[in-house]
Amino acid sequence: MSQGKAFDAVVIGAGVFGAWTAWHLAKRKQRVLLLDAYGAAHSRASSGGESRIIRMSYGPDEIYTRWSRNSLAQWKELFAAAGENLFHQTGVLWLAGENDPTLRESVKTLGRCEVKYELMERAELEKRYPQVNFADIAQGLLEPESGALLARRAVACVVQDALRHGVEFAIEHVNQPTGAKALSQITTASGRTISAGQFVFACGAWLGKVFPEILKSRIFPTRQEVFFFGPPSGDARFAPPELPTWLFQADDVYAWIRTHNREWLAQRARNGRGSTWRVDSQR
Ligand SMILES: Cc1cc2nc3c(=O)[nH]c(=O)nc-3n(C[C@H](O)[C@H](O)[C@H](O)COP(=O)(O)OP(=O)(O)OC[C@H]3O[C@@H](n4cnc5c(N)ncnc54)[C@H](O)[C@@H]3O)c2cc1C
Repeated sequence: MSQGKAFDAVVIGAGVFGAWTAWHLAKRKQRVLLLDAYGAAHSRASSGGESRIIRMSYGPDEIYTRWSRNSLAQWKELFAAAGENLFHQTGVLWLAGENDPTLRESVKTLGRCEVKYELMERAELEKRYPQVNFADIAQGLLEPESGALLARRAVACVVQDALRHGVEFAIEHVNQPTGAKALSQITTASGRTISAGQFVFACGAWLGKVFPEILKSRIFPTRQEVFFFGPPSGDARFAPPELPTWLFQADDVYAWIRTHNREWLAQRARNGRGSTWRVDSQR
C-alpha cells in the first residue's frame, strides 16, 4: 500500500460485505483500497466459517429473496471465472411446524419471484427422507437450486479477483474516526494516514466499536454456537443427494450443512440471535 496516495474509495473490513463492495467498486473503475485488521474472512469474522447456506426463502421479505437470487448468480459467475467451484447445490429444505407463517409467506414470495420450490407435507417428507425423525414438523419447503457456499474460501476468492481488478489490499486496523466533518482521511494503528473520496465501513460486529457514539446503543453483536457432527464412516444417508442442507426455525435455529465428504456443520442460534457479547472479548 502506498502511503499518501489518494483512493476513490477505502473499504474497511474484508468479510463478505467488504470484499464484494471493493470488487464492485473496482469493476466501476474506482481506485480502491481494502483494509482488514486480521485478513480476509479470518476466524474471528462472521464470514470466516467453513460453510454458509445460501437460500431464497425469507418469508414476506421479498427484497432478501431478490438479493439472494442475484448474489447466487454472481457467486456462480465468479467461481466459473476462477475455475473453482465453491458453491454446492445441495438444495435447501426449510422445515416448519404446523401453520408456520414464515413458510406460508415464503411460498408466496418464491412464487412471485419465480424461484423454483417444492412444498411437501410430512407424509411426503417421511417417504423421501426416511433417515430423519420429523417429530414437530408439519411441512417442508425445498429450494432445489439453493445450497451451501464454502464461506472463507469464497470470500478469499472474491478478494483475489478484486486484486486482479486493481484493488489494493492491506492488513491494517483502522482507528476510530474522529470529528464531526465529512471524512476525508483515516488513520491506522500502524500510524498510516490514508485519504480517499469515500469510505465504506463494512466492519460487521465491530461497527459499534468503530462508531460508538452512533451505533453502540443500536448494534448488539450476538454469539452463536456452532457444532460439528459426523455419522459413522461410509454412512451417506445424511449427505446430498440423499439429504439436502436443511434448517428448522422455532425458538432456536438449527441448520445442517454437508458440503462434501469432510464437512458437517450444525448451527444453533437461540431465538435466531444468540446471546449478546462484546467483540474481542470472551463475554
Ligand atoms: C455461526 C454463523 C452462521 C451463519 N450462517 C449463515 C448462513 O448459513 N447463511 C447466511 O447467509 N448467513 C449466515 N451467517 C451470517 C453471515 O455469515 C454474516 O452476515 C456475514 O458473514 C457478515 O459479513 P460481514 O462482512 O458483515 O462481517 P465480517 O465477516 O465479520 O467482516 C467484518 C470485518 O471487518 C473487520 N474490521 C472490523 N473492524 C475493523 C477495523 N477497525 N479495522 C479494520 N478492519 C476491521 C474485521 O476484521 C472483519 O474481518 C452466519 C453467521 C454466523 C456467525
